[in-house]
Amino acid sequence: MNELTHADVLVLGGGASGIAAAVAAAKAGLQVALIERNPFLGGLATAAEVGTICGLYKFSKKESSEYIAGRFAKDFAECLKIKSGTKPLFNPSGLHYLPYHIEAFKKLCSDLLDEHKVKRFLNTKLYSLSRSDTKIESVSVNTEGESFRFTIGSVIDCSGDGLLSQLADLPLIKSEHYQAAAQVFTLQNLNETDESILGLVLMKELRRAIKEKKLALYFDRVYVIPGSLTHHCVSIKIGLPLDVTHAPENLHELKRVAHTFIHELTGYLIQHVPVFKNASVLHIAPQVGIRVGLRTTGRYILTEEDVLQCKKFEDGIANVSWPIEEWEQDRRVKIRYLKEDDFYQIPARCLQSNTMDNLFTAGKCISATDAAIASARVMGVCLQTGYSAGFMAAASALNTPLADTIKQIREREL
Ligand SMILES: Cc1cc2nc3c(=O)[nH]c(=O)nc-3n(C[C@H](O)[C@H](O)[C@H](O)COP(=O)(O)OP(=O)(O)OC[C@H]3O[C@@H](n4cnc5c(N)ncnc54)[C@H](O)[C@@H]3O)c2cc1C
Repeated sequence: MNELTHADVLVLGGGASGIAAAVAAAKAGLQVALIERNPFLGGLATAAEVGTICGLYKFSKKESSEYIAGRFAKDFAECLKIKSGTKPLFNPSGLHYLPYHIEAFKKLCSDLLDEHKVKRFLNTKLYSLSRSDTKIESVSVNTEGESFRFTIGSVIDCSGDGLLSQLADLPLIKSEHYQAAAQVFTLQNLNETDESILGLVLMKELRRAIKEKKLALYFDRVYVIPGSLTHHCVSIKIGLPLDVTHAPENLHELKRVAHTFIHELTGYLIQHVPVFKNASVLHIAPQVGIRVGLRTTGRYILTEEDVLQCKKFEDGIANVSWPIEEWEQDRRVKIRYLKEDDFYQIPARCLQSNTMDNLFTAGKCISATDAAIASARVMGVCLQTGYSAGFMAAASALNTPLADTIKQIREREL
């Protein structure tokens, strides 16, 4: 073990929430280290290529996309829009979202870390920690066969999986049943340039094939990623008909099923549907998308009622109008909408561990029930919780009152 590196604030995970957290902590003038096991930044946004940022805009049937998310998320989206050359899209239900390019997302994350002098450790896996009854004292990481130990002031878990709470044996919020995983892939050489027509053709042809028993029932869980049809290429998301268990071998099995699904689907489309006649698989996203993982138990657990009743909190640090999206293994997505033009808030307490004074969480592993995280996990929200967690962790490392910091976040961001 190589001794010892110090970080005032250590951020675990380089996804949307981790980038936001690291930037905020660095803005507070602290030494910040970000640990990421992948060789690139972006988390699910780039590894699973989910393709659009949701949770940035108001839920509204108006055509114009109006921001509901806080200032950092808005600035992030505006930069990404320029780098990607995209604009917000909306659907008739009133949902607005921003398509982006994968490489533009990676570049923006990298630029932000450089600009704020965050020390990044890519290809680096956090595997253990030491703690007292009330504090995480240090964490150990492994990079290319070498181990290092970081002593820390405070730490933010943006692993998407409550990993620090798992390693510290702290109380976790688990699900009895996890949402369906999905795989994104890209087809090239399509003979259709209108995305909505392509989506309709795909849906109609798959329904017909299922009815005629040429394809299995689960081929109805196939979706075009909005805004992805360019240069005769399109990205498609398939819902995987296999349970997500979070057991180590589960990920391999999901990946195997995804590849079989893609090849069967593509083969059928090429043979039977004229717009796909010349198509072939250009690319398969490196990672299967796991929607929900384990979550750290915080000082408050966000609930389904908070979401659906659009509850506001005195320590609310994120505004959210995204619906509860439930993706199951055996059916298409079920969506429960909020009241139009309204929103709920996420209290700062959802980002604070209920046992460790210097442990914070952000993104898809904040303290929330199954139904609540099914709304709060989208990236526009991860950017907001990440940014707030960064300031809160900085306040904890500096020993300044958290209540003042939360007040400042609310004034500046919302
Ligand atoms: C199929 C699918 C489709 C989706 N579609 C959309 C969409 O269209 N729009 C939208 O806004 N949201 C969408 N989401 C949700 C959204 O993508 C995620 O909830 C969000 O990106 C999570 O961000 P995060 O920062 O919390 O976690 P992640 O993006 O998961 O980042 C966690 C990071 O931590 C790293 N990490 C984990 N453990 C370790 C370790 N031990 N050591 C070092 N690094 C580690 C991981 O490598 C990863 O990079 C989708 C999700 C899925 C699965």
